[in-house]
Amino acid sequence: MLETKVCIIGAGPGGATAALQLSALGIECVIIDKAVFPRDKVCGDGLSGKVFTTLSKIDKEMAGRLQQFTDKLGSWGVTFVSPGRLGIDIAYKTRYDRSVDDPAGYVCKRIHFDHFLVSELKRKKDIRLFEGVNIEKYELQEDGYLVSDREGRFSVKAGLLIIANGAHSSFTKDVANIRMDPSCYAAGVRAYFKHVKGTHPDNFIELHFLKQLLPGYMWIFPLPDGQANVGMDMISETVRGKKINLRTLLMDTLKNDPVFRERFEDAEIIGKVEGYGLPLGSKKRKLSGCRYMLVGDAAHLIDPLTGEGIGNAMYAGRLAALQAEAAIKSGDYSAGALMAYDNEVYRILGPELKLSRRLQRLARFPRLFNIAMRAGRHNRELKELISCMFYEVDLRKKLSRPSFYVKLLLNRK
Ligand SMILES: Cc1cc2nc3c(=O)[nH]c(=O)nc-3n(C[C@H](O)[C@H](O)[C@H](O)COP(=O)(O)OP(=O)(O)OC[C@H]3O[C@@H](n4cnc5c(N)ncnc54)[C@H](O)[C@@H]3O)c2cc1C
Repeated sequence: MLETKVCIIGAGPGGATAALQLSALGIECVIIDKAVFPRDKVCGDGLSGKVFTTLSKIDKEMAGRLQQFTDKLGSWGVTFVSPGRLGIDIAYKTRYDRSVDDPAGYVCKRIHFDHFLVSELKRKKDIRLFEGVNIEKYELQEDGYLVSDREGRFSVKAGLLIIANGAHSSFTKDVANIRMDPSCYAAGVRAYFKHVKGTHPDNFIELHFLKQLLPGYMWIFPLPDGQANVGMDMISETVRGKKINLRTLLMDTLKNDPVFRERFEDAEIIGKVEGYGLPLGSKKRKLSGCRYMLVGDAAHLIDPLTGEGIGNAMYAGRLAALQAEAAIKSGDYSAGALMAYDNEVYRILGPELKLSRRLQRLARFPRLFNIAMRAGRHNRELKELISCMFYEVDLRKKLSRPSFYVKLLLNRK
């Protein structure tokens, strides 16, 4: 049996970030993943600024290595398409020069991005990484947690657990008692394609708010080598209620919709359409308890409007590591002491999650969307506002105020 101060379950973005931050603090840890890397994860593959912010806070050189990483593609903006099929191109920066400016967003296949993080783990001597081990048993003892695989062949005793094993975490369900709520959960599917026509020359990501998906959307995210990640997501409650098969809906849309039919006429699918769940941070949950903290999808922290979960998982992973340091110093691993982690996560991510939840409710109304888009084409301020929607929380606030839409209606052409 191995012994460690901190054991992290899951080496995705959340768990890997926690381990890297612990190492930067000089705290040894064990991190276990059931997969052997490089491994795939169903995702849109969109990386926001939060990813670089977090890595820079831990180690600037590591952020630099990601900057140099060639398997990702820089994106300079976003194309929004309203339910009425009105498109609006919005650059992240009003003026940019691709030869000198860094892009604000990237798209990187998770098989590559997660492997980048795991290769960073392997550079650190105080991080013991175990791949191909499925942790299924958790036993709380007086002085720590004993975790093991089903047969008990692999076991670790740790003072503290960081649970970062994703959307299907049994720990989240059975120990933390957080159940899947279909109104706060989305279903998503994605497929890789090559030869998609009509993508933006500056690699804008595309969000198509198709009427039947609201408040979810269909996306086309350009990737290196002329490939694209194409997918859609929808609230699970609607998927269940209307008995929708999202895989079929995606392929039917690409085949039958007049716009996509043309753009995908020469496209070739690489592999197949894959699906996975998105546990949304639509409501506040208890993220910690005696000797454990939940991180990332295991903590239901995905942005309910944008579907962004990688950056949030990395933020939470870093905060969990900082809290672990405090617990080790004080020797206090009680539920009461670890509540400080919940407070910090919700202090930082709470306001934007709350806003996104409000906007997600508004996004259910296609007419409102169409009006906002039509107005946005002629209104510079609104254009800038929409462009910052996915990055700047303060500006998102404006979008969630009913008065904003009243003004738009009054100014409508
Ligand atoms: C269709 C779709 C599109 C998305 N698009 C985007 C996007 O474009 N941008 C974005 O930011 N987010 C997106 N997300 C959300 C994003 O994928 C997640 O929020 C993110 O992966 C969360 O990271 P994590 O580290 O918490 O969990 P994960 O990435 O799921 O990692 C969990 C790890 O735990 C391991 N594990 C699981 N169980 C065990 C076990 N019992 N023992 C040991 N190891 C275990 C797994 O093998 C895995 O490596 C999307 C999600 C979906 C489903």
